[in-house]
Amino acid sequence: MKKYFNFLHRHRYDIFFSAVLFGFLLIIFWVLPKEQTKNIINILENKTFDIRQNIIAKDKKVNKDIVIVSVDDPSYEYLLEKYGDWPIPRSVYAQILEYIQNQKPKYVAFDLLFVKSLNRIPESDKSLIEGFTKYTNTYTALNFDDYSFELRKPPVIDKKISTEILINSNNIRPYKYLNCRMIMEEIIQATDKIGHINTPKSDDGFIRAIPVFVSYPRYNPNDLSEIKNDYYLYMTIKLAVDYLNKYENANIKTIVVDENNNLILGNRKIPLTEKAETILNWYGASGLENKNSFKYISFWEILKSVEAKKNGTKEIIPQDFFKNKIVYIGTNVFSLSDIKTVPTSKYLPGVEIHATLLNNILDNNLIHKAAFPYNIFISILIAAAAAFTVFKIRSVYVSITLFTILIFSYLYFSAFIMAKYNVWVWVVIPVILSIFVFIGAFIIKYLLKSRDFEYTYKLATTDGLTELYNHRFFQEQLRAKIKQAEKLNNSFSLILIDIDFFKKFNDKYGHQAGDAVLKHVASTLKKCVRTEDMVCRYGGEEMTIILNNMTKEFSVKTAQKICETIASKEYELTPELAVNITISLGVAAYPDNGKTPAELIEYADKCLYKAKENGRNQVGFIE
Ligand code: GH3
Ligand code: MG
Ligand code: MG
Repeated sequence: MKKYFNFLHRHRYDIFFSAVLFGFLLIIFWVLPKEQTKNIINILENKTFDIRQNIIAKDKKVNKDIVIVSVDDPSYEYLLEKYGDWPIPRSVYAQILEYIQNQKPKYVAFDLLFVKSLNRIPESDKSLIEGFTKYTNTYTALNFDDYSFELRKPPVIDKKISTEILINSNNIRPYKYLNCRMIMEEIIQATDKIGHINTPKSDDGFIRAIPVFVSYPRYNPNDLSEIKNDYYLYMTIKLAVDYLNKYENANIKTIVVDENNNLILGNRKIPLTEKAETILNWYGASGLENKNSFKYISFWEILKSVEAKKNGTKEIIPQDFFKNKIVYIGTNVFSLSDIKTVPTSKYLPGVEIHATLLNNILDNNLIHKAAFPYNIFISILIAAAAAFTVFKIRSVYVSITLFTILIFSYLYFSAFIMAKYNVWVWVVIPVILSIFVFIGAFIIKYLLKSRDFEYTYKLATTDGLTELYNHRFFQEQLRAKIKQAEKLNNSFSLILIDIDFFKKFNDKYGHQAGDAVLKHVASTLKKCVRTEDMVCRYGGEEMTIILNNMTKEFSVKTAQKICETIASKEYELTPELAVNITISLGVAAYPDNGKTPAELIEYADKCLYKAKENGRNQVGFIE
């Protein structure tokens, strides 16, 4: 226990400084605007997610059963030439659907909006509606928004499109939209295979997650009051539910969100964020640039094949190309604004987001964020390792190198964890924390070191008894003073002091009393000179003073003053016993009385000898 208190006492300054440092950091965090700090950390964390995704994307393999039909630039040009304006007549999609369905795909999903109000040609629309009626494995999209009711009255959407979701978690707040761009009512009558395709962006414009479901009010048609909130599944989630029921006998009847924010689809768990979004695991650059990514077919190739089939000529698309495939149809044209920025690609066709999500669900590899306690645990562990590199390693360079290695290893570790377990562990907070700790540890280490250094320095330069500078330091300083005076062309003086009859004093009163007198004389000398002057113990009962920047005349005056001061006051050895102490002094000035340490000391010594010779208690002179 005593040891412990000793330790505390010895380290009281370190403890104090660490506490101050810690408090300072706390204050910094307190003062920073909370929301902004959180945002910055979020944006940085998202960027580290992107880096990790790019590291691990190349090792992921896509499901070759997922095929994307894209209205790419050549197709768009071809269509505009043939049909004039966009959108093209819906019979074109009907033909495409018919062509693909003839090859018996598992599913066909249009990532396109068959908007009610646009370019209606009744004959043309009819063929597409027939397609939806005939092929019940065909899906299409709906898009919600928040447009003003003044501009457009929100439509009342048939209940059958919405989905009952049983939410057992308290912290799910799905996006709530209030308006919607209505698609053709006949399609809604023909099918309920309709899902939303809203993909809100992160703060930096990237899409990293998609809302698995959103809410939209069931409006009272008379006064547009909200009767209740309906949930709408993302188109691909709707497709995935049907897929799992049909091909994996998942038997999903109600859709449930469990208390840990997972959407349960049979044996698949889809981790949700608070906004009911799920974070996608990306597959690298889109299939246009990357052979390992999804298979892309151009819209025009199918159109040419449709024609060829009619004319009995050779089709571009192989016979059973779409057999058992899941086919997404979407646009990939800048002017149709369905190009998205995602972690692994700046220009990703929106339709590939569906393919990515479906692939993630089928492979059960959607990303989930590590739980808060794990993240905190990791942060503390990394910070502790950072402190370790400072305190346990002597060399600064080795510490910094190790710390850098630590941080980069952690980044790789976090990517590894994501690749292997689909887990997103924090990177930014552990790294910031460990940088703080690393710097803090350095400050503490150097405070400790400097105190050690100060102590050792004092030991090396002062005399234990009198606390004056010691002989070695005196010699050093004398040499330095000479050099300095030489350079600046100024003068300084040296006073040599010897206590009179000290041997006798010792003999009479004992060495303890002699020691006390030495201390008394030392402290009196210190009081008699300026702070820039140096008082040293030369040895035994001899002391020296280096008087900075002072002429001989003033130095002699100072020496005389010292002599009088010592002699004038009686020194109380004990309360009962007061003694008279006197000293003799010799003064040497640079450069007049000598130009080297030896010359100066010799001159002062000769003067001192004269003082002794002339009866002591005085300043001595030689002619
Ligand atoms: P003088 O007036 O000629 O200088 O006579 P002195 O007796 O002072 O001269 P001397 O050099 O013969 O004696 C110096 C004495 O100082 C001898 C020694 O006992 C004493 N002395 C030296 N260092 C210490 C010390 O650290 N403590 C004590 N108590 N005495 C010391
Ligand atoms: Mg002596
Ligand atoms: Mg003496």
